[in-house]
Amino acid sequence: MPELSLSELVRPELAELHAYAPVQGDFVLRLDANEAPALLAEHARARLAEVAARAAFERYPDARALGLRTAIARRAGVEADQVLVGVGSDEVIALLLTVLSRPRRPGEVVNVLTTTPSFVMYRMAARVRGMRVIEVPLDASWDLSADAMLRALELTPPNLVFLASPNNPTGTRPSPDRLERVIEAARGALVVIDEAYVDYADADCLALLARHENVALTRTLSKVGFAALRVGWLIARPELLRELDKARLPFNLSSLSQEMATLVLSELWSEVEALTGRVIAERERMANELAQLPGCSVTPSQANFLWLKTERPAGEVFDALVARKILVRSFHERGGRLAHQLRVTIGAHDQNELLLSALRGIV
Ligand SMILES: *Cc1c(COP(=O)(O)O)cnc(C)c1O
Repeated sequence: MPELSLSELVRPELAELHAYAPVQGDFVLRLDANEAPALLAEHARARLAEVAARAAFERYPDARALGLRTAIARRAGVEADQVLVGVGSDEVIALLLTVLSRPRRPGEVVNVLTTTPSFVMYRMAARVRGMRVIEVPLDASWDLSADAMLRALELTPPNLVFLASPNNPTGTRPSPDRLERVIEAARGALVVIDEAYVDYADADCLALLARHENVALTRTLSKVGFAALRVGWLIARPELLRELDKARLPFNLSSLSQEMATLVLSELWSEVEALTGRVIAERERMANELAQLPGCSVTPSQANFLWLKTERPAGEVFDALVARKILVRSFHERGGRLAHQLRVTIGAHDQNELLLSALRGIV
């Protein structure tokens, strides 16, 4: 045997990728990851602790996660056999890419279609699997460019289309007529509508699932106060879920995550609704306040963050905030129209005030 040469064994696509590394450092305020503010009531924490105390630590979790899937299904008004759970919706995205990876013709590379800017995991998870990613720019108001999407569907037929509604980082929802045009044109592909922020939006896409065979939805607890649990899910047709289940790791979700998430989705759901209500009220207040800062404008948001345009280069504003120990998300390194955009997560009232007063001194 020759000596081990990793580069001969590792997928070549990895050479262009970096491990996901959130910014490290000691910040007084982190508004960079779209986490919910820590507003969970004491009684809710106590209920979660009770569940943890009762756990059968020596046992494997329920491989089918039936209790959790039933709670998710009830909340969404679907059946449990339409729900698959993952370690966050990230795992669900990865699983879809793993399973729906059959080349259209033998030896051909698999295409994945999405928009830009959008959630980076679609590209990363597809590249890791050797797929080609086509990113169609959103239009000037950060809505879907339906014509450009249709052209891409024709030129490079994908196996999967990923669209986030609301979209990260823009906070916008694709307009329903454009979305439906794309779904209809993408009949040969699975269109995954990522609803990570649906709890902050005016409308969801569940009706599309019933109307179109090629639609699936992903959702998560991560953006509504339970990122620590790592619980996300797919809502789709049972035929698709049966195939995905063959590739899913049987014990992917720990017992603690399953049981705590089940509690959150049932008994504690009113807590989640109270939280999202407060964040939405803060979002609207902040949108007004930020729009009044010199050189700033804000895209109306349906999520728990704001897409802020600054006249000053976003990189400079970002650095000035970091100097004040405040972290937001900047996309300036990607250049073009993103060079003047920042994404700021909505925090609790005091945190938002801290961000506002810092920005007043910067822009
Ligand atoms: C944060 C985010 C996710 C990730 O969700 P997890 O359930 O935490 O893996 C998925 N999609 C979008 C658009 C997101 O912004």
